[in-house]
Amino acid sequence: MIEKYCIGADVGGTTIKLAVISTDGEILKKWEIPTDTSERGKHITRDINITIDNTLEELNLHKSSILGIGAGAPGFVDSSTGYINEAINIGWKHFDFGVELKQLTGLNVWVDNDANLAALGENWLGAGRGVENLIAVTLGTGVGGGIIANGEILNGANGTAGEIGHVTVKTSGGAPCNCGRSGCLETETSATAIVRKAKEAVLEKPLSALASMKDITAKDVFVAAKEGDAAAQQVLSDVTETLGLALANLTVAVNPNKIVLGGGVSQAGDQLLQPLKEAYSKHCLPRAAEACVFELAELGNDAGVIGGASLVKQYSNAQ
Ligand SMILES: [Zn+2]
Repeated sequence: MIEKYCIGADVGGTTIKLAVISTDGEILKKWEIPTDTSERGKHITRDINITIDNTLEELNLHKSSILGIGAGAPGFVDSSTGYINEAINIGWKHFDFGVELKQLTGLNVWVDNDANLAALGENWLGAGRGVENLIAVTLGTGVGGGIIANGEILNGANGTAGEIGHVTVKTSGGAPCNCGRSGCLETETSATAIVRKAKEAVLEKPLSALASMKDITAKDVFVAAKEGDAAAQQVLSDVTETLGLALANLTVAVNPNKIVLGGGVSQAGDQLLQPLKEAYSKHCLPRAAEACVFELAELGNDAGVIGGASLVKQYSNAQ
């Protein structure tokens, strides 16, 4: 039998990550190109087509051995059509990405949002390998999420399922969110939120070690908390309490076997996981909590392209 390959393409605000992966999960090549966001990102599909052609030639692979492209973008994506409602970082608005990429490349194309691809990636080759019911959370500049239910990514009625970052956790007085509302999980637990909260905490506790820092990062807050700084500890306790509550509530809806945490903030490891698990246990229905374990993501920045390839593997089989 001739080996078949899947292409993953993860379009981000600064780079487009790509990979050619066999259906057995062997990564043949992984590379990236800069994202050309000029003219509202109109050259991006062309750039993807060119780099794929060049790479297939270099790898001596014919297009007939490629099952398709699984592409991801940050924002609101209709996965059934590949239509991008809006991807702010890239400049796309009401853009028929899936159709255009298919026409240019002549390959089958499946599209989903980047957080769903990361969940699929961890579900195929990472910390959530083979887990039937999985919640994957990316804690970075924003908060992304993807839900695998009964072995499949959950998209919902119009592709909004798993938008964990926009679960409301503060009904009044919350910070404004990119989605146009306020008090979302993203504005309370992302790296950006940790920095904002640290700056607020310093106003109340001017003796905090954070007060003398110029450009506070989320990492600084974790370091200061470890060293016993009360302001930093208070910020992280707020964050883990809120995140624990949100994940506990999601757990009752999804009943996951595992919750995988990725993104920059997750690099804090046990310093994040331990208080998070405590808050989660406190708020979660015990029977649902018993079934669920927490784990740190394993694939880092590769999760998206691996997830893209996984999307191809899954859906091209069904054709
Ligand atoms: Zn929001």
